[in-house]
Parts: sequence; structure tokens; C-alpha cells
Amino acid sequence: MPVRADYTFASDNTAGICPEAWAGLAAANAGRVPSYGADAWTARLQQHFRKIFATDCDVFLVLNGTAANALALSALCQPFNSIICHDYSHVDTDECGAPELFTGGSKLMALAGPNGKLEPTAVERALRRERGVHFQKPGALSLTQSTEWGTLYTLAEIRALATLAHAHGLAVHMDGARFANAAAALRGRGITPADLTWRAGVDVLCFGGTKSGLHATEAVVFFNRDLARDFDRRVKQAGQLDSKMRFAAAQWDAMLRTGAWLKHAAHANALAQKLAAAFRRHPALRLIAEPEVNGVFVELPPAVFAALESRGWHFYRFIGEHGYRLMCAWDTTDQDVADFAADLAAVMRSAAAPQTGKKKPPAKKPGAR
Ligand SMILES: *Cc1c(COP(=O)(O)O)cnc(C)c1O
Repeated sequence: MPVRADYTFASDNTAGICPEAWAGLAAANAGRVPSYGADAWTARLQQHFRKIFATDCDVFLVLNGTAANALALSALCQPFNSIICHDYSHVDTDECGAPELFTGGSKLMALAGPNGKLEPTAVERALRRERGVHFQKPGALSLTQSTEWGTLYTLAEIRALATLAHAHGLAVHMDGARFANAAAALRGRGITPADLTWRAGVDVLCFGGTKSGLHATEAVVFFNRDLARDFDRRVKQAGQLDSKMRFAAAQWDAMLRTGAWLKHAAHANALAQKLAAAFRRHPALRLIAEPEVNGVFVELPPAVFAALESRGWHFYRFIGEHGYRLMCAWDTTDQDVADFAADLAAVMRSAAAPQTGKKKPPAKKPGAR
């Protein structure tokens, strides 16, 4: 069997740069243009974001999601604050302490919650862990939309959490590395990006560009504009001020002006549904959460995962011992899903077949790995 290395479903950032962003890059590559954001594309950016969110917001571009989150949280918290987040949140599990570093010491309080979502009761319990001056004071609530489990907070859920946070003096941060997927999924229900964010109480959104098809750019969008004070200095101090910012801005310009951000996200979401259907054909396999955006989370027996891997499919274990994550992106095709589904069916057939005449593998030597 030929050995392939297929990263189609490994992550939404194994995909390349989408055609619209590529065209934006090409357009920005024509001649000498003022640096550090003093260009025409960056000038138009605020207008694009204000139109999409139907409000006056302040937008800053940074180079990746970790910096976006860590810097946004640094604008919300003092070193003696804490940040309430989910225990699967990227800020807690995947940023190597960047939020703690850039806030100058804020403590992350990671809480469990079903389907990758925080619940008000758990947040309330955390807020009651008050020990006066001896314990860090909660300063921000961080939500991920769409979540790290491929699920969505409903509008009512965001509102309830944000209301609770504001009542206790906390600011509300939204990690929107996959905000586009959330916006595309909820659009059909008449829910707008404004409804999902500031109208529900979100103070600052980290709007992901990379996972939706751009290269090396994420937008930090402040709806509470008081919190944006001196944010440009935070960006520069963190080494996140892109001197050729026109290339980042031109990608956003192309993506937002054409509506490609929603088109690509809807496409990725739709393919995740098809991929989920391929898993549902096998009653022995269990989806961990109902997929609502562009990821499928499924429990796989070790032998099934190993057999898929040996057929070339690369994707990662994400939840517990046997919970795997498969992501779709703007470039995932029906053929990709069909190929995967065919391999999955073959693997499941051979897993179900009685093992006849097969020799047991020799026992491993003690100490062998
Ligand atoms: C990918 C991702 C980020 C950003 O990660 P970077 O690698 O720093 O760009 C942030 N939050 C979530 C939920 C993500 O999945």
C-alpha cells in the first residue's frame, strides 16, 4: 500500500491561502506603499469591520491567535486578576502561558463544562471562590465561539454568561479563531455578527483570519472602545506590529468585501456534516458532540485509528483517551470526504470480519517500545 501523508482533516490551518486572500496579496504587491498600516488597505479595514458588526468598533491586526488572545486579555485584566475560561479553551491549553505573561500574572481559572461550553452555574461557583485580598479577583470571562469541541454557544447562552460576568465587573472576551464558522452557521437562523458579539455583551472579539483562509493575520475587535486605549502600544511591544501591514489588510479587504469569509466557512461547515454522516453510518462509532461547525469529534477504537493512519490519514487525538478531531476547511472537497468515507468503511468491514488463520504477533521483549 502506498504511504501517503494526508493532512486534509488534521486542522483547518493545514489548508493554504484561499484564492480571494491570494488575490488581495497580489494586489498589495504592486509597488512601494507606506508601511506600518499607513496604507489604503488598512485605512479601509475599520470601515469593513464596522459594516459587518453594525457598530463603531476599533480593529487591530496581529499575526496569530495566541497574540490576539493574550493581548486582548492584557487590555482587560490587571496582574492581580483572574480569567475564567473553559478547561478545553485554547487560552488555557494551547498558548504556553501567553495570557499569563502578557497580563503580567493574571491567573486562568479553567472550568469544566459539557460540549466545550461554560455554564453559568459553574461560572457562578468560580465567582464565589472569593477569599478577599488573598485570592486573584476575577477580571475577565473568556468564551470561544465556535468552541474547541466544534459546538456553538447559542445567543441566549452568550447573553446569560455575559450578563453574569458584567454583573460581577468582569469584561467579556471572545476567542473567535473560528468566528467565521459560527457566523456562517447561525446566519441561516437570522443571527448576525452583531447579535453574536456586542449585542450579547462581548467586549472584545479575536476574529480569526488564519483558519478561515488568510495567512498570518487575526483581528482584535474592540466593541468596548474604552478598552482599546493604547492597544497599539501593546501590539508593538509584543512584536506584533506588522511593518508590511498592507499584506494582512489586503487579505482581510478581499475576504470581507467579497463575503468570501462566510462562503468558505459555510462550505467547511457543510463538509463537516457530510463527514459526520460518514461516521454515523457505523453504529459502533460514537460522535462526541453534535457537529455544529467545521469539526467532527469522534471516539475511535485504537485499531480503527491505526488502520486509518496506515491508510495515510493524519488527524489528532483531542479529547480523552480515544476522542479524535477531524477538521474541514475552505479547501476540503466532497472527494476528500468520499475518499475518507470509503477508507473508513473498509476499515470497519475488516474490523467486523472474524479474524481467521491469523498468527498472533510475537510478544514484545520486555523494555521494547
Ligand atoms: C487556532 C486557534 C487559535 C490561534 O492559534 P495560533 O496558533 O496562535 O494562531 C486560538 N484559539 C483557538 C480556539 C484556536 O483553535
